[in-house]
Parts: sequence; structure tokens; C-alpha cells
Amino acid sequence: MTTPTHFDAIIVGAGQAGPSLAGRLATAGRKVAIIERKLFGGTCVNTGCIPTKTLVASAYVAHKARTAKSYGINVAGPVTADMKALKARKDSVLLKSRNGIESWLRGMQNCTVYTGHARFESPTELRVGDSLLSAPQIFLNVGGRANVPDMPGVKDIPFLTNSTMLDLDTLPRHLIVVGGSYVGIEFAQAFRRFGSEVTIVEMGPRLVQREDEDVSASVKEILEKEGIAIRLSAECIRLERQGNDIAVQVTCSDDPNPSIGSHVLLAVGRVPNTDDLGLDKAGVAVDKHGYIEVDDQLRSSVPGIWAMGDCNGKGAFTHTAYNDFEIVAANLLDNDPRRVSDRIPTYALYMDPPLACVGMNEREVRKSGRPALIGTRPMTKVGRAVEKGESDGFMKVLVDAESKQILGASILGTSGDEAIHCIIDVMYARAPYTTIQRAVHIHPTVSELIPTVFGDLKPLT
Ligand SMILES: Cc1cc2nc3c(=O)[nH]c(=O)nc-3n(C[C@H](O)[C@H](O)[C@H](O)COP(=O)(O)OP(=O)(O)OC[C@H]3O[C@@H](n4cnc5c(N)ncnc54)[C@H](O)[C@@H]3O)c2cc1C
Repeated sequence: MTTPTHFDAIIVGAGQAGPSLAGRLATAGRKVAIIERKLFGGTCVNTGCIPTKTLVASAYVAHKARTAKSYGINVAGPVTADMKALKARKDSVLLKSRNGIESWLRGMQNCTVYTGHARFESPTELRVGDSLLSAPQIFLNVGGRANVPDMPGVKDIPFLTNSTMLDLDTLPRHLIVVGGSYVGIEFAQAFRRFGSEVTIVEMGPRLVQREDEDVSASVKEILEKEGIAIRLSAECIRLERQGNDIAVQVTCSDDPNPSIGSHVLLAVGRVPNTDDLGLDKAGVAVDKHGYIEVDDQLRSSVPGIWAMGDCNGKGAFTHTAYNDFEIVAANLLDNDPRRVSDRIPTYALYMDPPLACVGMNEREVRKSGRPALIGTRPMTKVGRAVEKGESDGFMKVLVDAESKQILGASILGTSGDEAIHCIIDVMYARAPYTTIQRAVHIHPTVSELIPTVFGDLKPLT
């Protein structure tokens, strides 16, 4: 029998919520342990947001260099990607972040860092290697990983995920991306711009199916304009080795025209890291997809155990994971009963131009049956976008016709990921849309046209 080392609080996972919570608890004088099995900073820092956005930045530069002539700028010679240098840049950005988090935690007073895989032994005890730890409060921040579906042939071919894609330091000749949603599209466009041939294979009838049809159509058009091949309604995806290549068949009968690629990226969703935590020994309930069930203040089914971030299924983003930390800290330390349901859904897809969304989309508003108003504006009518030579996409806003509250917005367009924040903040303020309509924004910006869109609303029929 090992005697457990006792703490006031144990945090499992050093992702986007755990380290900040460790900081708050330790500062409040609690004796804290934080356990990380692999890379400090988790998905966002190591295999998600940060590395992909450095790639997106490199891809943007390549695209601009290739289109330089249209701006009156001469670039001598062909534009090519130096994949080793590109990877080195990406690594240096993410390492700064990873090392910063690790050294912050290791230097934190009242906090002990354990490296290794944590598993429950009981509702108050976790084992990490040879160490047994106990605490009355346990916070799970274990995140998720790429889903690898059991599609025919998947076991017989080498495939890439979002993690292994980031290890590439040579350019794929032809990258086939299985999955036409957020993760797949970012990689597809970046690698196309680096110089790969790229095909997206999507099971559904359109890309980014969570979005409105006009958004999906516009995203498709933008990607096709850059030479990305898109195969939709791929109902029966089968993977097969063909010499050094991989053939991807998409039809249920023999595909007369399979896509032949040098590399295959599987970008078909995420699964929570909850199957190897020993949750049964703690009695923590999960839903049918493995997400830890939590209430509005992120308490699990077992008193004294909380779940934050991607593993609770309440969000799939860094900002939602961080907000989970804020909710837990506010409830435990500030006597402030913050709740998940106070959060307005918002996120971006970092293709170029980006797609930024907040609240409800048009389909959801229609489904709600409420009287609503809609405003749209193509980016070709946004001066700043035209001046930048980046006028693809459009803006769309939705308003409750009776209360004048903003219901949601989507901006597919240059700087849309920044411009949407004026809408997000007015939604949090629960102010009517007329607040933005009457605001004077800076000229020339993309945000400048948002009051104009709100000034030209029509009934949603
Ligand atoms: C390709 C890609 C791009 C993305 N881009 C964006 C973006 O631009 N913006 C955005 O908001 N979100 C983005 N995301 C999503 C974002 O990365 C996640 O939502 C975020 O990282 C979730 O944070 P988390 O703290 O819940 O989990 P994670 O960051 O996954 O951290 C969980 C940590 O727990 C550790 N762990 C797991 N199990 C155990 C165990 N048993 N014992 C010890 N440690 C354990 C893991 O090693 C990991 O370090 C992206 C995701 C991907 C895959």
C-alpha cells in the first residue's frame, strides 16, 4: 500500500484551463499538483491553434508573393516554400509558448508538477507512475485528440493527423484531406499555397456543414479558385495503397476516378481523452461520445471533480477552455456564480479570408421561428477589402425583430476575425443592434461597414 501525497487540489492536463487554474489556486494559498503526460500547453500550443496559425501566416505570404504583380510589385523567380525553414519558424513560435508555460508552472510557489499519465484510483486519488496523489478537489483538463474513424483501408495506409502534419518538413506532392471542415480546410489551403496539389474529400454534400449554405458555397468557391479539388458527398470513402501512393475512392461502387495522393490527412473530428483516465474508478459519468458530463458550473457527476475544456463537450476552442477556467475560479475563489450558459458561442475558421461567427446562424434563426431581420453585404462593397485586393466573402447579421437584440453574425472576409468583436461585445452588453448602427467606426476598416449592415436590415422571410 502506497501512502498518497496529499494536496488541496489536483489538476490533470496542462492545456488551456489547467495552468491558469493552478496559478489562481496556488496564489490563494492552496497546495496544488498539476499532472501533464506529454506537452505543456496541450493541443492549442503544440498541435492546434499556434502551429497552424504560423503555417497560415507562411501560406499568406506565399499567396501574396505569388499575386504580387497585381499590386504592382515584382517578385523575381518562382515562389516556393522552404518546408524546413517554415517548420523551424513554426517550432520556434510554439516552443516559446510551451516552455513559457512549463517554466511558469515549475517555478510556481505551492504547485508541484508531475509528468506522466494520470489515472483515477478512487474519487479522490490519482496515480501517476509510481506516485499516488490525493485531493478533495480534482480538476480534469485532459482535452482531446484526432478521431481516427474505422473507414475501410485506414489500417493499411500511412495517414496523417493534425499532429503528424505538423512534423512534415518536406512538401507533399499531392495531399488528400479527408474531412472538409475547420481543421481540414486550414491545412488544405495552407499546403496548396506551399505548392502541393490538394484534394478535399468530404462525406457531406457541402463543406463546413455547421454553417449556412451560402457560407459553405462561398468557402468552396474561394478554395476552388486557388486550385483545390473538392469532392463532396463522398459517401463511401475507401483508402488503398497504390505503389508509393494512396488511392482514395469515394463512391460506394467501384470509383472510376479515385483521387491518388502522396499523403492523406484525416481531419474528421476529435475525441475526448477520457477513455484512459480510469473514470470508472471515480464514478464520473460521461456521455455516449465520452465527454465528461458537467453542470452549468462545470461540476461533474462526482462531488469534488470538475471538468474543463474540450473534454466536457461544452466547447471545442481555446477561448472556451480558458473561459471554463474563469468560471471554475470565479465560483471557487471569488464567490461569483459564473456559468457556461452565460457564454455566447463564437469561433473562427482560419482560412484566408477567415470566417468568424457569433451566436446563431441564419438556419438556426429560421428554425427558432422568431420574427427576425437580416442584413448582408458582400466584401466587394467594403472599401478596405477592395483596397487590400481581398474582396472575397460577405458579412451577414441577424437581429430579433421585436427585441432588437442581435442574434448572430457571420463574417467571411478579410479581418473578419477581428471585426466580429464589435458585434460580440454588443451581444454581451445585451444592447440593441442600434448601438452599433449609430456607432462611428474608423475609416477605412472592415468594421466600418458593420453599422451600415445593421442600418439596412430586411425581414427574414
Ligand atoms: C489543428 C487544430 C487547430 C486549432 N485551431 C484553433 C484555433 O485557431 N482557435 C481555437 O480557439 N481553437 C483551436 N483549436 C482547438 C484548441 O486547440 C482546443 O480547443 C484547446 O486546445 C482545448 O484545450 P484543453 O485545455 O481543453 O485541452 P488540450 O489543449 O488538449 O490539453 C489537454 C492536456 O491534457 C493532457 N492529458 C490528457 N490526458 C492526460 C492524462 N491522463 N494524464 C495527464 N495529462 C493528460 C494532454 O497531454 C494535454 O496536454 C484547434 C485544434 C486543432 C486540432
